[in-house]
Amino acid sequence: MEINQNARTVLERRYLIRNSQGQTMETVEQLFERVANAIAQPDEKFHPDADPTKTAKEFLEVLTSLDFLPNSPTLMNAGRPLGQLSACFVLPVDDSMEDIFESIKNAALIHKSGGGTGFSFSRLRPKGSTVNTTGGVASGPVSFMRVFNMATEAVKQGGTRRGANMGILRVDHPDILEFIDCKKVNTEITNFNISVGITEAFMEAVERGEEYPLIDPSTNRVTGTLNAREVFDKIVDSAWRNGEPGIIFLDRLNRDNVVPSQGEIESTNPCGEQPLLPYEACNLGSINLTRMVKETVDGRFEMDWDHLGRTVATAVHFLDNVIEANRYPLAIIDQVTRSTRKIGLGVMGWADALLMLGLPYGSPESIQLAHEVMEFINQKGHEASERLAEERGAFPLFEESTLKDGSPLRNATITTIAPTGTLSIIAGCSSGVEPVFAYVFIRNIMDGTEMIEVNPILKRELTRRGLYSDDLMRRIAKEGTIAHMDDIPEDIRRVFLSAHDISPEAHIRMQAAFQDHTDNAVSKTVNFPHDATREDVAQVYRLAYRLGCKGVTIYRDGSRDSQVLNIGKVS
Ligand code: ADP
Repeated sequence: MEINQNARTVLERRYLIRNSQGQTMETVEQLFERVANAIAQPDEKFHPDADPTKTAKEFLEVLTSLDFLPNSPTLMNAGRPLGQLSACFVLPVDDSMEDIFESIKNAALIHKSGGGTGFSFSRLRPKGSTVNTTGGVASGPVSFMRVFNMATEAVKQGGTRRGANMGILRVDHPDILEFIDCKKVNTEITNFNISVGITEAFMEAVERGEEYPLIDPSTNRVTGTLNAREVFDKIVDSAWRNGEPGIIFLDRLNRDNVVPSQGEIESTNPCGEQPLLPYEACNLGSINLTRMVKETVDGRFEMDWDHLGRTVATAVHFLDNVIEANRYPLAIIDQVTRSTRKIGLGVMGWADALLMLGLPYGSPESIQLAHEVMEFINQKGHEASERLAEERGAFPLFEESTLKDGSPLRNATITTIAPTGTLSIIAGCSSGVEPVFAYVFIRNIMDGTEMIEVNPILKRELTRRGLYSDDLMRRIAKEGTIAHMDDIPEDIRRVFLSAHDISPEAHIRMQAAFQDHTDNAVSKTVNFPHDATREDVAQVYRLAYRLGCKGVTIYRDGSRDSQVLNIGKVS
């Protein structure tokens, strides 16, 4: 199996089975066999004459060719006693001490098993309101978030993953101003991403410059009003300062809630791409688009639609089997998750695939192709789920879902675009649908030598033209972008754009193109240069709203003391 050194290192450090002395007990190849075998097994449940060995072979083929990878918990836990296979969970937080601490306990169990949790804190009564049983005053959502945060800190996920959380508060909660500021000091609430839950009524009030009501969720009474434009500006200002909070459009999430009979969608998973009902879990998987591009006889590249179609069908079969093979951390999660059978199939390596195709990320042609690729995946994904429904039955709540007038589906949702933070390292491609952040990284190894890591597609192109040199790579690492390097041919500079060469507007247009054909949501960060203004950020929020995005996350370069990715510097 072909896999690069970084991928091997990540798998060895965090994914391979270890014994009690910490020695690895399987090879990378055996890891993929373990996963393929475990996930093929459920076929037997549905077909008396099913042949799990044949299915396992088909799964092993897509995994080892790196055409498709399931989310990290599936790679880590399939075929093992823990057996928790999902990345995404949402837990309810109700307005009582018992419920709040029940939720903290449940989150700890999920974190221990490698999953991430999302919560809406919108049902908690505001700070300062009375507590009937004691006559004291309530401490409010933000103070409880700190308790969730500390619990997460204490559970180190068996040494593999730190816990990750999403915290959401509706914009009409009386504590919204405190919430917007709660991560102003970067060292606080570090195990949470936070997002303000925005409503359409709020966006209209922003447009008209009106006041809007704040509502105490415990009494349903209006406690006061705020000026919508001022709150919007405060969200923008905070995001401009340090990237948080993000925003999510709650009404849109609920418009796409296919089982409204089961309640409202209040939250997403930690990275924002998977809206879920309370106690619902979802497993994700991503197709590596660099593998879905083929070389033509004259040495150019084009999309390989046949290969993509076949991979989608295998991936949907795989992800539906994951629901069966999964051991959920709580009985209620098992029951809720199986009643809708949501899966989240997405993509990674999109920016690298565009490089191969010679299309600049963000160009009209690239946006058009994003529509075509995702529409195709969504269509083929739905067809595959329909075929599974014929064999295995539709998801149990199909008849009470908004989909009931169409063909029965095995899964209430099929597509989601995940960040693929680790998966893209394993597959050796660009992450999710993000542009390439930097083409060259220089790593300093402990013995004083340096290791130059170059984006494989740039390396191939420069080598082909006899332009590749270590010196040039060092310069690219230092500059962070090749857009202004005169000694690189113009046709290369035009295509090999970095995240910061792409306008924030183009980032959002790309997100919106994928969102148009995605059942769930799209994980995407819009990168701004350091000198971007608050108004630049506000414009992107408005554009995202107009183009039908379900949420927005932005990041202005250099706005946090320590950021995950620094151009030219990697530790
Ligand atoms: P991966 O590449 O490891 O499969 P992604 O970066 O695509 O994961 O993230 C997908 C989802 O997995 C996130 O939205 C979140 O729900 C969950 N997740 C990611 N990182 C963590 C973590 N450290 N702890 C818990 N859950 C996580």
